[in-house]
Amino acid sequence: MSNVDPAELQKFSELAHRWWDPNSEFKPLHEINPLRLDWIASLAGGLAGKRVVDIGCGGGILAESIARAGATTVGIDLARKPLKIARLHSLESGISVDYREISAEELAAAEPASFDVVTCMEMLEHVPSPAAVVEACARLVKPGGKVFFSTLNRNPKSYLFAIVGAEYLLRLLPAGTHEYQRFIKPSELTGYARAAGLDVIASIGLHYNPLSRVYSLGKSLDVNYLLACTRP
Ligand code: SAH
Repeated sequence: MSNVDPAELQKFSELAHRWWDPNSEFKPLHEINPLRLDWIASLAGGLAGKRVVDIGCGGGILAESIARAGATTVGIDLARKPLKIARLHSLESGISVDYREISAEELAAAEPASFDVVTCMEMLEHVPSPAAVVEACARLVKPGGKVFFSTLNRNPKSYLFAIVGAEYLLRLLPAGTHEYQRFIKPSELTGYARAAGLDVIASIGLHYNPLSRVYSLGKSLDVNYLLACTRP
């Protein structure tokens, strides 16, 4: 199990107890969740009755909402504390999610081609080899299924918005949350997806308006973006 940065897992574990506080460090994840959930659900042709795995689920904001939409949901992460928080929250909410401490690569070896939908949000920019995670996602999905990624683009604008703006000026995220060198250009992510045998079917940007403090989906992939793929 080498495709892990322990310092990254530690960062998320330390904050885990605040994961479900909508005014905490995780506020951005709470606010973007309805947007990404809708986008995923519409491209997946609905989530009810589907088998879904959420890779790098953390405290379960997306995973639980996917299960709430009627999918049989597995959530995996390698950080123990966020998983514990996720399990507690699912007990409280009564929305059942199968949370497991396992890597994407290991789950792909154990249960290949067994999910209708694979989601991997805001996680690739925290791992040493994002290409290997993309590969695992491609192995997890059934032929004809959909795989969704989200991450941060790498360019001067994304440095300014995602690091200087979000971490230092607006303090939406703790300083040090993201490392610029780990950001992934859409062309790179598309390359990893194609190399793994996936076809890219759609992409969309995720924007933040600092004046209205409202997130929205839009055309520009300059900063935060989502990519949808299918396995032929
Ligand atoms: N996907 C969730 C959480 C994003 S935070 C959401 O968007 O709401 C990033 C998550 O990735 C954290 O929970 C962290 O523990 C996890 N992570 C980082 N490296 C990982 C790895 N190598 N394998 C699995 N999860 C990882």
